[in-house]
Amino acid sequence: MSRFFSRKYDALTPYVPGEQPGERQYVKLNTNENPFPPSPKALLYARDHTRSPELYSDPEAVELRRALAFLCGVRPEELVLTNGSDEVLNMAFMAFCDANHPALFPDITYGFYPVFAQLNGVPYREFPLREDFTVDVSDYLSAKGTVFIANPNAPTGIPLPPAAIEEILAADPERVVVVDEAYVDFGGTSCIPLIKKYDNLLVTQTFSKSRSMAGARLGFGVGNEALIRDLNTLRYSTNPYNVNSLTLALGLGTVLEEAYTQKNCAEIIRVREKTAKALRELGFTATDSAANFLFARSEKIGGEDLYLTLKARGILIRHFAKPRIRDWNRITVGTEAQMETLLSAVRDILEERK
Ligand code: PMP
Repeated sequence: MSRFFSRKYDALTPYVPGEQPGERQYVKLNTNENPFPPSPKALLYARDHTRSPELYSDPEAVELRRALAFLCGVRPEELVLTNGSDEVLNMAFMAFCDANHPALFPDITYGFYPVFAQLNGVPYREFPLREDFTVDVSDYLSAKGTVFIANPNAPTGIPLPPAAIEEILAADPERVVVVDEAYVDFGGTSCIPLIKKYDNLLVTQTFSKSRSMAGARLGFGVGNEALIRDLNTLRYSTNPYNVNSLTLALGLGTVLEEAYTQKNCAEIIRVREKTAKALRELGFTATDSAANFLFARSEKIGGEDLYLTLKARGILIRHFAKPRIRDWNRITVGTEAQMETLLSAVRDILEERK
């Protein structure tokens, strides 16, 4: 770091994104992208309905917000659009955490949460998941602070039923509960309907996974109008044009063609279940994932070993060096053909290790 870098970031360890392939062509199963292209209507809207780039994008994103709010069954005032859901999550740490409201989240969850906490100088507390990687709801009932729950969780893929989230919400109406639903469209149940009942609930979602728009960067938060107003205060204090015009057009086209998203999600779920079954037949233990990835381990090969051996064969999956999960790998569900390539490589590797 330079001698000019503010001392307030001394303890900041940045988030490490999944690696991006360089020259080599990989089967890329490491960052939970969607293997299918954006919806045809999204591409059409991007071509024909993008506001000309010499003009700023619409800071109120009127059209997209209206369409998306309708899809979610909420009012536009209950929704804020952001540059990926990472942005709305960071805003939630800025808005709803401080020295008296530490961030509370599981020890195994989305790796950005501790980074956002450090970035914003707020304390955080991690509650260990149970042995089977499920969330122990009782940990969150009396703890003081702002709760962050990824549902389904990452990298485990395990979902929590909305009734469990409701228990956490109801236990203390004076604190905010953020439910990160980045992967909800692959078999989870959204808590969005609960925003009518709980004014301390913020739900975040993304267009990166189910809607094939990871590179366009579009996310959103849904909650009580007052919570959304707080987030907009921060948005207008940092970057009112946080979502660019091209992305707004892509997003609108995508929302107007929801059936395309649903069809792709159904296919990814089908391929996920088929791949999980095949991995289990090869002796892997896999969690019951409700996301677009699998989380699996084998007694026959270590997590890092499998990751490196697959990489050498042109297949990228994700390995986390964290002690509790270092034997595990997270594998994005791609097309059926990509998963067949993966499975055949895994079969070969296990055979070689015999
Ligand atoms: N939440 C979780 C649990 C994630 O895994 C991700 C993707 N890395 C995000 C949020 C953020 O995704 P995006 O910023 O692309 O919306």
